Amino acid sequence: MLQICALASGSKGNALYVSDGTTSILLDAGFSGKELESRLSVHGINPKSIDAVIVSHEHSDHIKGVGILARRFGLAAIISQKTYSCCSDSLGRIDNLRHFSAGKTFAVGSLNVHPFPTSHDAADPVGFTIESGGVKMGIATDLGVPTAAVAHHLSGCCALVVEANHDIKMLEDGPYPWHLKQRVKSRLGHLSNEACRDLVAGLVHKGLTHVILGHLSETNNRPETALNAVAPALNGHGAKLFAAHQSLCGDMLTICL
Ligand SMILES: [Zn+2]
Ligand SMILES: [Zn+2]
Repeated sequence: MLQICALASGSKGNALYVSDGTTSILLDAGFSGKELESRLSVHGINPKSIDAVIVSHEHSDHIKGVGILARRFGLAAIISQKTYSCCSDSLGRIDNLRHFSAGKTFAVGSLNVHPFPTSHDAADPVGFTIESGGVKMGIATDLGVPTAAVAHHLSGCCALVVEANHDIKMLEDGPYPWHLKQRVKSRLGHLSNEACRDLVAGLVHKGLTHVILGHLSETNNRPETALNAVAPALNGHGAKLFAAHQSLCGDMLTICL
């Protein structure tokens, strides 16, 4: 069994809570310690019960609260060496620091975590799969293209958190300056709703029960737009589809075999 909750998702801050009842982790902590505490309290989670925060890449919407949380609640911070060297100043002192390497599975208590490379404009960006007791979930947000390697790692998951960043037309017609539109659309940028739909369509299998769309742009997307775009990928299949929010804490979802 895995419990997962998107505490927040989007360019202003990301954090995903994952627990198997024995070990609890955060994947990224991209907003203030205070805000994280308040979102965890929505589900009655004491931050001290969390074992570690694992970092996907150094962008501030993923690391802003990592140092504060690690110091205040004694969490381990687990981050790749390359990513750490880009953001050690922003993180500040961390007493319990561990490093992972993309491609190498590591354990955090009873959770098996596998980081895999993604295509994004950061030093060493990764997505993750997390497995406990045969239940596997995958997360890949902040990726310009869903490479074959990403699809390979996300296959066979019971739950997916995948990026549906923008509607291509909303991005093109929207207020972003030209260079920012190019960055978002590039292979090192963010995944469109349409690309997310194609990725999810290739990942559908009998055991897939939950799909959460993440990192939605507040300017170039709407939750209903993203949900409508990706829903056809799950047509006729029982998996539930959700959109994670920037300003609201998501539901606590229980994922079982
Ligand atoms: Zn991000
Ligand atoms: Zn990023």
